[in-house]
Amino acid sequence: MARVYNFSAGPAVLPEEVLTQARDELVDWRSSGMSVMEMSHRGKEFISIAEKAEADLRELLAIPASHKVLFLQGGATQQFAMVPMNLLRGKKSADYVNTGQWSKKAISEAKKLGAANVVATSEASNFTTVPAPGAWKLDPNAAYVHYTPNETIGGVEFHWIPDTGDVPLVADMSSTILSRPLDVARYGLIYAGAQKNIGPAGLTIVIVREDLIGGAAPGTPSMMDYRIHAENGSMYNTPPTYAWYIAGLVFEWLKRRGGLKAMAAVNERKAKKLYDYIDASGFYRNPVDPACRSWMNVPFTLADAALDEAFLKGAKGAGLVQLKGHRSVGGMRASIYNAMPEAGVDALIDYMKTFVKNKG
Ligand code: PMP
Repeated sequence: MARVYNFSAGPAVLPEEVLTQARDELVDWRSSGMSVMEMSHRGKEFISIAEKAEADLRELLAIPASHKVLFLQGGATQQFAMVPMNLLRGKKSADYVNTGQWSKKAISEAKKLGAANVVATSEASNFTTVPAPGAWKLDPNAAYVHYTPNETIGGVEFHWIPDTGDVPLVADMSSTILSRPLDVARYGLIYAGAQKNIGPAGLTIVIVREDLIGGAAPGTPSMMDYRIHAENGSMYNTPPTYAWYIAGLVFEWLKRRGGLKAMAAVNERKAKKLYDYIDASGFYRNPVDPACRSWMNVPFTLADAALDEAFLKGAKGAGLVQLKGHRSVGGMRASIYNAMPEAGVDALIDYMKTFVKNKG
């Protein structure tokens, strides 16, 4: 069996140890005589899996008791709607920061459900920066402030937490959660699709301060109401049990690796060596302001786009896959989430060097 280095933005690489463990437990989970996929979500076996996963996530992120953790479905995209449905709580509007394509999707969904004010944008830089905190025109009466700490397509990341005073801060952490320690208490709500740093697609994690639960707009369907999910332990309906289980294995793997402080050190090092090489190469280019380059998603272009196809073909031959940039921006993108081994980044840099040498 030959595993490749998979640089996909998501669904993304999972730790090989987790996949091996899942394989070993696939048919008969710990002498239960059945697969996790076949278990009742209300049975004691699955409840133990679910509770352990939540406890480990709480430990990894040091989630305070003030915050509930929900294991939902619908992806981060569903949260674009659930956040305004639940958090507007009769207020006139919410503030949104626009740093790229995922922010824009969140904004357009919020606009359907009420007023979304764009209080800061980095559009003038073609989304290669994040707006400086002093430039945000925050409304003290806003229901919440929403931002996207890591723009998966643009490769732009906030390396600081915005200060929004008493207005709850809401973050789409889909592509950065668990990449480093996080001060969860600073947030009213955090959401993330699982398929990057958490586990398989189909699971969405929401971490929400308890006082923000229970204010859904009249007419909100049950499945869109945080209160219903919180009151039912994320089991109002059948949850994505297998994805929840795999996420739990990923959390255990993160703990074995030394937790998020250890992950942050590796992630920073992986990103730095790739950016350093790109900047020094004179052939590859990353347009993002060095102060807000993503640790997780590294877009880059070649000096001549006519070489893109040859680059991708050669990369595939070297066991480096899914490097093609998002269809909206072209070029390349290397997503280097927690589960991408440092050796994978080293192999990519070696290949990039060889490609430059041989391109003529
Ligand atoms: N937000 C961000 C930052 C993302 O990267 C993605 C997926 N790439 C989404 C939202 C949408 O997530 P989903 O497909 O889980 O709805």
